[in-house]
Amino acid sequence: MNTTNEDMNNFLGNFPSSTFADGTCLIIGSMATVGVVNTDDGLVLFDVGTKMHGPRIFQELRKFSDKPVKYIIYSHGHFDHAFGYAPLLEEVKEKGWEMPQVIAHENVLNRFEKYRMLHGYHNWLNKMQFATPSQTSEDIVSAKETLDPTIVLHGNENFEFKLGQFTFEVYHDMGETDDSSWMFFPAKKVLFTGDLVMNPSYPNVGNPNKVQRYPKHWAIAMEKMLEKNAEYIVPGHGQLIEGRDDVKGTLSIRSEAMHFVHDEVVKRMNEGKWFPEIFHEMLDIEPDKFKNNKYLKPTYGCYRFAIHATYRLYHGWYDTGNPTDLFPSKSDEVAKEILKVADETKILEQAKKLNDEGKIQLALHIVDIVIKGVTSENQTLLEAYTLKNKLLKIMRDELETSFIAKNSYNRGFNQIKNKISELRRKLK
Ligand SMILES: [Zn+2]
Repeated sequence: MNTTNEDMNNFLGNFPSSTFADGTCLIIGSMATVGVVNTDDGLVLFDVGTKMHGPRIFQELRKFSDKPVKYIIYSHGHFDHAFGYAPLLEEVKEKGWEMPQVIAHENVLNRFEKYRMLHGYHNWLNKMQFATPSQTSEDIVSAKETLDPTIVLHGNENFEFKLGQFTFEVYHDMGETDDSSWMFFPAKKVLFTGDLVMNPSYPNVGNPNKVQRYPKHWAIAMEKMLEKNAEYIVPGHGQLIEGRDDVKGTLSIRSEAMHFVHDEVVKRMNEGKWFPEIFHEMLDIEPDKFKNNKYLKPTYGCYRFAIHATYRLYHGWYDTGNPTDLFPSKSDEVAKEILKVADETKILEQAKKLNDEGKIQLALHIVDIVIKGVTSENQTLLEAYTLKNKLLKIMRDELETSFIAKNSYNRGFNQIKNKISELRRKLK
């Protein structure tokens, strides 16, 4: 199913804040959504957004209510959910209020620790994944200062708390991360899911840039949420989901999709198959009900990523079963050897032919032999770069739906664009 700009805009939180559940709750659209509950004794906040969006989120919050924030729950410790707290703390200081309690799973603390160790790496990685402007991104994702939890959930324990006239239930389940918590607000039947639900994206399981994620646990989390018979979902990204049917539809298709990808990959692993075979078989058997589902669009996460995630959960890095791939030579050395016995212009012609036939991925493999193998900066190399960029553009603009994969193609496109202009100058 194709994703639209509207889907992506929703995903990135470009929608107005709105109240729901008889005006008791508020959803604030920002890169990651923020959920708010108004009680007689103060406010409960589910997530606080990015550092960059913090001030705007705060404004939206204060349009809704001027009561003090008593509880903050982190869905998980990602920068887009847990770093926008600064304006809230300033206000607490200014007004002499008590500090809010911050509830999170113990793995959030491990995550913050990891972020500090891998600071430079995460800065580089997030710039690539989100294609953010280089000047601002470091500050946005930095975990140098964090608002750490005061109430820590250990292992699989649940936590219940009361504020004003209302009770709140917090649960831990793994899915996108190992540090996730979700909340149920029984009085108004609202689920606050964090990234366990991104509306309408396929679960972000198997993100090519990120650490291991958990498809089976994800399915179980969806089933636990289904038992709540909720009427609303405040998702981690995207618009509010309203009404029993849409809530049920969203949760049950995610559960089915996660069970499916997990169990089918495991079945093939048990049959002694290697990753390439599993991957292509899995593409062939993807059920239509997942492909064409309005609740499950490949906007951010996608089925292909999830196949990787499942395999990687149980298998090491040697995944082809071909001993040649165990400790491979440099790929440009291989290409150079091929070009010693094959004509580079013929190989380029073949890549063009594959492009004409619409075999874009195959064309990319073939054109790479020329790009990696030619030893002088000549006209053929320029043509090969030009073709590769044409192929990457088709991938980015026409074939790919996932924001994450699109950005990977885009990054390659820009790098080659620079090489093309450089080479043009030299060949003049
Ligand atoms: Zn998120």
